[in-house]
Amino acid sequence: MQTSKRLLRHSAYLPGEQPKIQDSVIKLNTNENPYPPSPTVTDALLSEIPRLNLYPSPPSVALREEIAQLHGLESDQVIIGNGSDDILNLCVRTYSDDELKIGMLDPSYSLYEVLAGVQGSDLIRIGFTDDQFSIDPEKIATCEANLFFLTSPHAPSGRLYSRDQLSQLARKFPGLLVIDEAYADFASENAVSLLKESDNVLITRTFSKSYSLAGLRVGYGLGPASVISQLDKVREVYNLDRLAQAGALAALRDRKYFQECLEKVMEQRNMVASQFDDFGWRQIASSANFIFVQPKSSGEGTGPEVALSLFRHLSEHNILVRYFPKHPQTSSFLRISIGKPSEMSILMKSIKLWRQKKQQG
Ligand code: PMP
Repeated sequence: MQTSKRLLRHSAYLPGEQPKIQDSVIKLNTNENPYPPSPTVTDALLSEIPRLNLYPSPPSVALREEIAQLHGLESDQVIIGNGSDDILNLCVRTYSDDELKIGMLDPSYSLYEVLAGVQGSDLIRIGFTDDQFSIDPEKIATCEANLFFLTSPHAPSGRLYSRDQLSQLARKFPGLLVIDEAYADFASENAVSLLKESDNVLITRTFSKSYSLAGLRVGYGLGPASVISQLDKVREVYNLDRLAQAGALAALRDRKYFQECLEKVMEQRNMVASQFDDFGWRQIASSANFIFVQPKSSGEGTGPEVALSLFRHLSEHNILVRYFPKHPQTSSFLRISIGKPSEMSILMKSIKLWRQKKQQG
């Protein structure tokens, strides 16, 4: 038996740590929602159990219809995925190969690179024009990729790209522009209205963040019917089980609960951001459910050692955040997911303790 040579050299995606004992840690490392899903999800899951002897709807038909309604689209403009990662994977399978290249912003969500590696497609990395994670649409449009992944709000910075900038890019880019909007519910604007004017844009969304359903694995793509039908050909037939379809539908329908959770998260985000401002720490204005911040110590200033020092201090105090040491644009920052007020208060206390220690030298 031989393993594909390409895959022998391939490295798998490295997810954020999922601690075994969840209770004793404050988990701010994988941008989950700190609140449980809508209580209506429990009822929906329980009432689906007696039907688990039957296969689920292959295209998740009810969910497609309601998501289409939510966004003012037709149901043939929607595809449902086992998490939005599933949709990203379908895009790679459908729109790239050993000749058709993939482009991505660098740094951004590292799964794009992993998927390109599995597919054996060349990857074109487009850097940012400044330390504010600004993009040059011209550079992206002319990069010769057939498929480009643009994350907005961007991860890990939280930076939002305006609808107008994305529209300008979509008009110039000849391939499929995938706008990964995993965090868009936490932002003031999104790119959905682009679908009315562009035939080369696919938007991906997830239930993992704003709907508190990371554990159920539901995401979706919105795009032209012609693109959706291609992706559907590649989709695993029963990619969403019955529980996932029923649970997501219940969460989607409980708009009040959804809005309340969003508001609580955004309020904490603004509160923590203003505390970091008070510290004089640099951060990128966040349109997501996390903050990307550059820790500063009075003695050592900023830099990878300082970020790593705070990361370690927080880990020792059972607070998990994310540190991305490999890229110069991320290595002096930490990405901190927004938790409940009580969690953020413990986080801030711990950061203050670290600052004091640093001051004392
Ligand atoms: N896109 C981005 C930018 C993300 O950060 C994530 C979550 N790690 C995803 C997509 C995937 O989310 P999910 O598969 O849980 O829908």
